[in-house]
Amino acid sequence: MTTASISPTESRVCPKCQYDSGNPDAEACPECGTSMVPHCIICGYDLKGLARDGVCPECGTPVEQSYLPDLLQNRSPEYLGQLRSGLSFVLNGILAYVCVVVLGIFSAFVSVTGAELFLAFAGTACSIAILVGWWRLTTPDPGMPPDANAGLGARQIIRIAVCVQLAASVFGLIPQFSTGQTLAPGMTAIVVLSLALGLASLIAWVAQFFAAMLYVRWLARRVPDQKLHDKAKRFMWLGPLLQTVGLLLFGLGPLIALVMYWNMLDVMRKHIKRILAET
Ligand SMILES: [Zn+2]
Ligand SMILES: [Zn+2]
Repeated sequence: MTTASISPTESRVCPKCQYDSGNPDAEACPECGTSMVPHCIICGYDLKGLARDGVCPECGTPVEQSYLPDLLQNRSPEYLGQLRSGLSFVLNGILAYVCVVVLGIFSAFVSVTGAELFLAFAGTACSIAILVGWWRLTTPDPGMPPDANAGLGARQIIRIAVCVQLAASVFGLIPQFSTGQTLAPGMTAIVVLSLALGLASLIAWVAQFFAAMLYVRWLARRVPDQKLHDKAKRFMWLGPLLQTVGLLLFGLGPLIALVMYWNMLDVMRKHIKRILAET
């Protein structure tokens, strides 16, 4: 693995702009000025001014450990555990959602009382599991200076998008309780609001898609896995293409996109499981 773009094992890569300074002792990024002095990888304590051969005054972790390259293998098991559980929520949530959709297609042919309401709730439960998964997957890395964490735009965008979608999916359930014939005046407002939230949710979903691919690339660099990095890069245009023009492929485009998306996240989960098993 010696590809210039993603294997910064020797030098330090700026956590904010990803600039590779080529200097393991750089104190600030020559490109954007972000502090390159790490925070403790276990507790997040700012290690500025502390001797490299000392220990973190907060938790006793050797300082040198936080100066290792920002590869995932050099990060705390707690942080990696959050990433792994996040990926499991997302991956299993997607599988469960596919089951709900299949059941929904069946229920269109056989009428079962309450099936519609049940499926609406099951679908929402799956969406919530996926969103909770993305929230966990974007846990801040304690070893990154906070400004770099905030500056990692993709992480922030995903978290904001998750909140918008959570609000919309919970709110979207409310019209399910209306009886349908005559909507009470208050109910009309709720329907209008939930439609607006639905639109916001759609926009959030699109933003999250692109941010998620950037985030997967950022994680792939830290495995490092050049193949996954390149796949995520390609999927930024291939995914939307499959979702739209791909519909002409007997409507199979979005399904292919979903399988590819699932596989990419599964590869990342396998990496994290392996790293956790090795540490
Ligand atoms: Zn930088
Ligand atoms: Zn510490």
